[in-house]
Amino acid sequence: MKRYIEQLIEDLQEAKSYAPKQKAASEMTENEFMEELYEIDRIIDEEEDKPMYNIFGIDPQIFPPHEKLTDEQATLLSSKIIDLWAEFNIDAVYPVNFPLAKLYPLLVEKFKEPFLYFPMGMTDIEFCNCEPDKCPFGEEYCDCKELAENWEKDFEEFEKTKNYKNKDELPF
Ligand SMILES: [Zn+2]
Repeated sequence: MKRYIEQLIEDLQEAKSYAPKQKAASEMTENEFMEELYEIDRIIDEEEDKPMYNIFGIDPQIFPPHEKLTDEQATLLSSKIIDLWAEFNIDAVYPVNFPLAKLYPLLVEKFKEPFLYFPMGMTDIEFCNCEPDKCPFGEEYCDCKELAENWEKDFEEFEKTKNYKNKDELPF
């Protein structure tokens, strides 16, 4: 298994070299920037969701089942997958303290799901739909509850300012 994992890590490393080279928005001419906006529209209109295999050339079948790995191996593979995604401007969204070893099966699952890839900008990959009872991170780690509470607070604040204006209490 040790040799297999070393080979897998080499493959993930090699796949990084297929990442499209991308200019930062600040380095683009206005024309290049406009072209990129058109390209984003075109992708949304015309492209279909594709499995990650088509993007990285990595077949999800090659990832060993979670239960066959030590925590150390799963952690290592998770960090290599996150590295590879980052090279393609894909960002895995997970709670800061969530153990990478536990993240491994979630990452591998995403390899099997089709998704819409944008070579430009940043694409987030989310695991939690903000339904704490269904959250793959579990209640211990899920921060959806906090997020929902913050939204509620923001909304209340917003309602307050609205009332303030409605009551004709503006100081001018
Ligand atoms: Zn969650």
